[in-house]
Amino acid sequence: MNAEIIAVGSELLLGQIVNSNARFLSLHLAGLGIHVYYHTVVGDNAGRLKSAIEIAEKRSNIIIFTGGLGPTKDDLTKETIARHVGKELIMDEKAFESIEQYFKKTNREMTENNQKQALVLRDSIVLPNDHGMAPGMMLRSNNHIYMLLPGPPKEMEPMFLQYGRQALSSQNDAKEKIVSRVLRFFGIGEASLETGIEDLIDAQTNPTIAPLASDGEVTLRLTASHSNLDEAQALLDQTEKAIQSRVSQYFYGYDNSSLMQELIKLLMKKNLTIAVAESLTGGMFQQELTSFPGTSALLKGGVVCYTNEVKQTLLNVKKETIDVQGAVSGECAKELAENVAVLVGADIGISFTGVAGPGELEGKPAGTVYIGIHLNDRKSITEELHLGGTREAIRTRAVKYGCYLLIKLLQESQNAK
Ligand code: ATP
Repeated sequence: MNAEIIAVGSELLLGQIVNSNARFLSLHLAGLGIHVYYHTVVGDNAGRLKSAIEIAEKRSNIIIFTGGLGPTKDDLTKETIARHVGKELIMDEKAFESIEQYFKKTNREMTENNQKQALVLRDSIVLPNDHGMAPGMMLRSNNHIYMLLPGPPKEMEPMFLQYGRQALSSQNDAKEKIVSRVLRFFGIGEASLETGIEDLIDAQTNPTIAPLASDGEVTLRLTASHSNLDEAQALLDQTEKAIQSRVSQYFYGYDNSSLMQELIKLLMKKNLTIAVAESLTGGMFQQELTSFPGTSALLKGGVVCYTNEVKQTLLNVKKETIDVQGAVSGECAKELAENVAVLVGADIGISFTGVAGPGELEGKPAGTVYIGIHLNDRKSITEELHLGGTREAIRTRAVKYGCYLLIKLLQESQNAK
């Protein structure tokens, strides 16, 4: 099955908002093994929407619409599709009740316009809206599947995940079960990863292997289909094993995980506490760490040591180190990591110092980064990196590298035991 996504909304054409709905749906449809061949954007205009539908019907089996399900006059997706496929709009009792409830709860008067939101295409499967008013729907007609979803991402995304995905899978005539697994890698470029497993990618049929690179990370999405779910999982296992035998040293996690989440899991498992000294990253590491619940058990505290003065007075970096080797140096990173761990009494200290740019510092070019890691039972290590990209990209990548290096160190010490 192949799909086209039609995003309806003049604000998209005016550049006022970005079509993030298409991105979200494409990512999830790939996971269902549905190929998305076209993204279309059309304004709030019935004539142009009808033309877009006619074009889409010639090239796609599944047409997914987002937007235009609201109560106002310019919300015309439902009405246009109803006329086009020759289905009337009927009141959906459940949707009506939930809109009524919403108005009662907020102590407001329900208008006729709002009642219109409870109208659905006859013979369609209704997709409840747990986060708003307009229900979504899916209709099978004239060899096509039409799915209508609301525009606001906070309504559309949970509706698709909760109900839309399932509704689409149930329409799969072949009754194939489609499963996917994302393998996440760090510390290796997309090109190198692809070269390492080129023969596997060339030979791919089932599972398919789709690489994707972003923010210094590379993911491989494996998608397998089989009439038996266990067999589909076994196909994924087999392909993953072949991939891991080549590039497992760069692998860090599955699906929606992140380097920080994997690090948190390891620290919790080993019952270790951490302290952070941040110059280059100005608190970014701690900000990301504390965005996850339960981290008070891990993070003892940290220092944003942006100036040399704070590095020396608060974190006892030797004057000689700053004068001779500089604040952007491996020795400074090492002292920062060791001393911050002592200062707050943590098992692990990690530090970030470097040049975010755009200019150079201490004669070192933008992108020069030193990460120091102190583990209480081991010799401290420092890592020198030369990162590319903007100021933001350098700082974001430094944080990711910090997580990655610490994960690998903790795994090594686990394996050595
Ligand atoms: P509403 O009941 O809020 O009117 P709707 O289904 O009619 O919902 P629209 O009116 O088309 O949806 O869009 C409402 C809002 O949803 C937009 O102002 C925008 O913020 C967001 N939105 C719409 N389409 C998209 C899209 N393709 N990508 C990201 N955001 C979108």
